[in-house]
Amino acid sequence: MFRFLKGFGITLKYFAGKKETIQYPEQKPEIPDRFRGIQRFFPDKCIVCNLCVQVCPTDVITLTGKKAEDNPKKKVIDTYNIDFQGCILCDFCTEVCPTEAIVMTTKYDNLSDYTRDPMFKDMEWLTNNEVYGNYKIDEPAEEETERGDEK
Ligand code: SF4
Ligand code: SF4
Repeated sequence: MFRFLKGFGITLKYFAGKKETIQYPEQKPEIPDRFRGIQRFFPDKCIVCNLCVQVCPTDVITLTGKKAEDNPKKKVIDTYNIDFQGCILCDFCTEVCPTEAIVMTTKYDNLSDYTRDPMFKDMEWLTNNEVYGNYKIDEPAEEETERGDEK
């Protein structure tokens, strides 16, 4: 009897206390700013240096560049893809990127599917990748977008 009352007391204590659960997916939990979530890409910042491709331990990044129409000495990104079948969200690509063209976000879900093809995300998907919570995306600054001119 004592054990029953003790257990019931614990139940009552938590019943009246602050709720820790949320109505996911309508509500999202607060995610720390430095969380290593699914990447977002900024084509205007990319200088096609290939560093992210070289550093990726699972070889899941592919990209192509082309000459800028207004400046043949400058390269701009043409295609940029990440195959999330193999991405381990290790953060290496974002750490090595000199212009922060690829950044980790607070997004952690909606990558699961029944087939493999949807795991392959192209530049359009990565550019429009939704982020959650109070996460701030720094839009490209003028001087950063012009770094490619110096190359
Ligand atoms: S997070 Fe790691 S595994 Fe994923 S694309 Fe970047 S470097 Fe590759
Ligand atoms: S995303 Fe960054 S590291 Fe990768 S090619 Fe573009 S500028 Fe270089």
